[in-house]
Amino acid sequence: MAFTLPDLPYSFDALEPHIDTRTMEIHHDKHHKGYVDKLNAAVEGTKFTDMEITELLKNIDNVPKDKIQAVINNGGGHANHSLFWEIMSKDGGREPSGQLAEAINAKFGNFENFKEQFSNVAATRFGSGWAWLVINNGQLEIRSTPNQESPLMDNQIPILGLDVWEHAYYLKYQNKRPEYIAAFFNIINWKKVEELFDESKNL
Ligand code: MN
Repeated sequence: MAFTLPDLPYSFDALEPHIDTRTMEIHHDKHHKGYVDKLNAAVEGTKFTDMEITELLKNIDNVPKDKIQAVINNGGGHANHSLFWEIMSKDGGREPSGQLAEAINAKFGNFENFKEQFSNVAATRFGSGWAWLVINNGQLEIRSTPNQESPLMDNQIPILGLDVWEHAYYLKYQNKRPEYIAAFFNIINWKKVEELFDESKNL
């Protein structure tokens, strides 16, 4: 079984005006597809083709030396984007609720503090990468990764991720990454993030 490009859970224009249609088309159909195709090429004929992408990344140390960088780049790219599409929605925004809200308040004081810290990490990631809200040893944590590295490779569970590669925002926002980050908060699908948070307790 080869890895496959998941469909977006909404139409290309669903996240307008926060993320524009053309960016979504190129980002999903060209960039994400490229990661999937290159991942498949890297692992063709190996046992890794039958693994869930999350399992493959959690066990990245088992990948042979000659393939590991291709799997980090493209397997990470596949997993990161698959999560990214899911945690956005045209009906998103506002604030989390339930146990996730309680955990955010306990860790960061309140939602506004969380938002400020996450936005700052996303804005100051130098070059290409991602900002994350992860669960690390049962604790919420904000962090970033360079390029397409995934927190799964550090045995952390990502429940919210923001792509800060220029390809994610340049058409609409050019060099104004902070405006893109602010817009992202209008479309976060907190229901989905809450689901991932709740599921993480059973992993
Ligand atoms: Mn991307």
